[in-house]
Amino acid sequence: LLARQEQWESRARTYPRSLPVALAKGSGSFVQDVDGNVFIDFLAGAGVLSLGHSHPEVVRSVALQLDCLSHGLDFPTPVKDAFTQAQLSMLEPGLRSRMKVHFCGPTGANAVEAAIKLCKTATGRGGVIAFHGGFHGSTHAAMAVSGLVSQKAPVPDGMPGVHFFPYGSLGPYPAGPACDSGPAECADYLNRALTDGLGGIPLPAAVILEVVQGEGGVVIAHPEFLRRVRELTLALGVPLIVDEVQTGCGRTGTWFAFEQYGIEPDVIVASKALTGIGIPAAILLYNSALDTWAPGAHIGTFRGNQLAFAAGVETIRIIRRDDVLGNVRRRGEQVASRLAELLSNPWVRDVRGGGLMWGIELAHPGSGRPAARLAAAVQAHALRHGLIVERGGREDAVIRILPPLNVTADVIHTACAILMDAIHVCSS
Ligand code: PMP
Repeated sequence: LLARQEQWESRARTYPRSLPVALAKGSGSFVQDVDGNVFIDFLAGAGVLSLGHSHPEVVRSVALQLDCLSHGLDFPTPVKDAFTQAQLSMLEPGLRSRMKVHFCGPTGANAVEAAIKLCKTATGRGGVIAFHGGFHGSTHAAMAVSGLVSQKAPVPDGMPGVHFFPYGSLGPYPAGPACDSGPAECADYLNRALTDGLGGIPLPAAVILEVVQGEGGVVIAHPEFLRRVRELTLALGVPLIVDEVQTGCGRTGTWFAFEQYGIEPDVIVASKALTGIGIPAAILLYNSALDTWAPGAHIGTFRGNQLAFAAGVETIRIIRRDDVLGNVRRRGEQVASRLAELLSNPWVRDVRGGGLMWGIELAHPGSGRPAARLAAAVQAHALRHGLIVERGGREDAVIRILPPLNVTADVIHTACAILMDAIHVCSS
């Protein structure tokens, strides 16, 4: 199957290059390849499978919906209403009362595109401010506001008016020749660029950021930085878009990661884990003051999907019933205390994360340069021993885990043992 894929499919595919497996079926935190090998899946659809593979109750709700109504364009339907109410019910009441929902095409990037377009329409301004290390998707505008130069460089005439600023992170910035300023300096710099007449940046349509940069290598925003960005954008009337595509729907232990920072965004982008088992869906939740699109201003055939609505309603019901967010926090503490041992390894520059989103940054002991080859070797070693993990960050030297949110303590225990052994063996 891998060879056939090589023959027939676009060269753009990525995961099977570093994880050469052909998937046959999955259940919970486990996935089986076509040869019958079973793996613990801590890639989990790049953070999509919050309830694991093929959660039986969600599968049943999708099957029932499929029998009832499989597609509905943007007509109102009972399941769409239930999904809308379920999503809004996860917001704090004050925020909920101010927010509206927009259903986007099915991927995170579609929702990022919509968020930028909405802010441009509402403000009548063109530019967007984004941050070093951010990732927002591969479509045109989403790519333009992402830091990943390798994706943008081969595509001429990208979206104009995007300005990148240093991201004020908690702990050390990922290894490499990046900005080493502290969070306060990052906020000061942004402030000066926007308010000093010599700053050179006209007032933008939006500021877009992730609270935890996932693809960027699990880089966590410093609370002071985020608070200052929010204060500044409020003072200047610039909508703040928080991209919760990866951090959202429980991944960091609260429904949205921004809740832990005491800020309220103007636009929230959510996608990956909205439906628990990977039925594609993406939404914007935005302040009703931005509701400036005329009917037909942002259309699309797959704006919302009845199967995704059914899965999303069932996912929230299960998350509440099983205290899945409590599990995320407890399992997160378990991961933190296990992986802390790695810090005595000279190749481990940092272990960071929260909830069930963790990164282990590998760097050369002397120079501090990203240890890209070591990270690839660790990922391959873990795979051979039955654990699928992701990589990200500068030169892909950060090993990342995104387990299902209902993962058990036993599975965390086994996976951490495989991962720690892989790092130990490959670095010695
Ligand atoms: N935003 C963030 C924060 C993401 O992590 C991703 C995907 N990794 C996207 C947007 C893009 O989502 P999609 O791949 O579904 O287009």
